[in-house]
Amino acid sequence: MAENPFFAPSDLPYQLPPFADIREEHYVPAFERGMAEQLAEVDAIADNPEPPTFDNTIAALERSGQILDRTATAFSSIASSNSTDGIMEIEKQISPQLTRHSDAIRLNRALWARIKQVATDDPEESWLLEKYRDDFIRAGADLSETEQGRLRELNEELSKLSTEFAQSLLKASTESALVVTDRKELDGLDEAKIESLRRDDGTYALPLLNYTNQPGLAQLTNRDVRRRLYELSVGRAPGNFDLAARMAALRAERAALLGFPNHAAYTVADQTAKTVEAVEEMLGQLVGPAVRNAYKEAEALAEQAGFAIEPWDWSYYSEKVRKARYDFDGAAMRPYFELDRVYRDGIFFAAGTLYGVTFTERPDLSGYHPDVTVFEVFNEDGSRLGLFVLDPYARAGKRGGAWMNNLVDQSFLFGQPPVVMNNLNITKPASGPTLLTYDEVNTAFHEFGHALHGLFSHVRYPRVSGTRVPRDFVEYPSQVNEMWVTWPEVLANYAKHHETGEPMPAELVAKLTAASTFNQGFKTVEYLAATLLDWAWHKLTPGETVDDPEAFEAAALDAAQVAMPVIRPRYRTNYFAHIFAGGYSAGYYSYIWSEVLDAESVEWFTENGGLTRANGDHFRRELLSRGGSIDPLTAFGNFRGREPSIQPLLARRGLV
Ligand SMILES: [Zn+2]
Repeated sequence: MAENPFFAPSDLPYQLPPFADIREEHYVPAFERGMAEQLAEVDAIADNPEPPTFDNTIAALERSGQILDRTATAFSSIASSNSTDGIMEIEKQISPQLTRHSDAIRLNRALWARIKQVATDDPEESWLLEKYRDDFIRAGADLSETEQGRLRELNEELSKLSTEFAQSLLKASTESALVVTDRKELDGLDEAKIESLRRDDGTYALPLLNYTNQPGLAQLTNRDVRRRLYELSVGRAPGNFDLAARMAALRAERAALLGFPNHAAYTVADQTAKTVEAVEEMLGQLVGPAVRNAYKEAEALAEQAGFAIEPWDWSYYSEKVRKARYDFDGAAMRPYFELDRVYRDGIFFAAGTLYGVTFTERPDLSGYHPDVTVFEVFNEDGSRLGLFVLDPYARAGKRGGAWMNNLVDQSFLFGQPPVVMNNLNITKPASGPTLLTYDEVNTAFHEFGHALHGLFSHVRYPRVSGTRVPRDFVEYPSQVNEMWVTWPEVLANYAKHHETGEPMPAELVAKLTAASTFNQGFKTVEYLAATLLDWAWHKLTPGETVDDPEAFEAAALDAAQVAMPVIRPRYRTNYFAHIFAGGYSAGYYSYIWSEVLDAESVEWFTENGGLTRANGDHFRRELLSRGGSIDPLTAFGNFRGREPSIQPLLARRGLV
């Protein structure tokens, strides 16, 4: 066991996890030793005969658990991006143990008594101390023994159910794939795409991506194939309905134990929204105009189709209307969006112009898969900033969607620069260059916005490093970074034909921006429907149970006045991983909540001359570098110079 790579800090640059040396059998012993080590460290803190100080209590907690941290970070990265049956087994075994472990710390009475006595005058320390007190109270530190006993049971059960939910979803993406034997049925998809779907037995399998409207629906000409694909999508992992209902009931019970009327109230209390009413007031302003917009769009689609459309027709006919109205052909853009160029000449270029940073590929450093690339990032003065790790391609064993994760947190406590990672789910072509859709380009810029938030982190303590901010704030910097996708200077630099190097023709660029509010009714409604569904599940009162989750879902959408026969939520209950297998329960509203700040910031950049070093530095200094080390809305105010208003968002979505 001496050579278990998790037992000592990585000796790779920036402490990049040594993926090449990690084998599946290393995880369980490393988790076990990591948990035991941290419990011993915590006991030593709690039993310290010295009077409690910030350093011997809070900072000591920040220093604890390093083996566990290294192990859990590498493991969760693998479990998300390159999972196997073995990894899934370990996940099942370990996730309830991790929950027990975190309860053992936060429900440690001696430790809690000590934390309550710590005092400090330093602003960064006071803020962190408050976070710790909040974390402990929210975890149940003040409850009685009996209540804590029940809480531990609930947490463990919830963690098991959540793993089960995620794993059945991962399986469903391939097991529920649309399989066709006749190539003609895939008419509409491009040849390279069809080739990438071909399996050894000569059939073709179109795997399910993790949301309702599969990308193929925009292209497949055969209406019956579209219907089959759509029905597979909305009906996948049906066992997850019952898991979801059980989780919602358990979360309601837990919220009651902790003194809240429901899980939504518990969740938003430590977010920037703070109250259920604040979230509902915001959503209330959006539902009516969005639904009206979507009905107008549906009429235009019916006119184009010549019949009343069904949900599986929406994308197909909206592409046609888009072409007719804006002469906008998504496929015509793809040759100008070559993956490598999008990064080097688009994403890195924009970051370089704004923040002065540069990127150097480090082929000597590797990830867990040959498709993973590592870049070293430098400041303008040549000082080292951190590593950026990119895993762009979809593969079996990778969960759907796109995300950013930290492989190493920045902190001055450990003198540690950050290692951040972006994952995308782009289909790897059988051969030739990887050409992206406009949406994929947008997603790449978005995820890179999170990466910058992690890379620019300039804080003392890991607990508040980089993206460790409330989740109704975390989407804000990433959304801001999307503004550079179509910024003329940036677009001109990266959108070049992959064969000829010709820049994207001006008329295509004009169409791209002209079409930007197109289909916003649909997009807003499918998002709001998912948000309100999340909300309904998490406003269940304790003791309330749901016997028929599908009926509950339908009734919830109806009650929220967002039910449209032709638009289902972006995620139905059975594949709503954000809220049943991720950290977003009662938090899916965060995206539009953050978008208020995003729209405000885009307005600020635009008014101040856009893509300049001065603007980038201001955003970096006041906002990105602060991570969670100060109140997020204070950071926003320092950047923007005023309180946020919803108006810029309404205007952007065509909802005024
Ligand atoms: Zn995001």
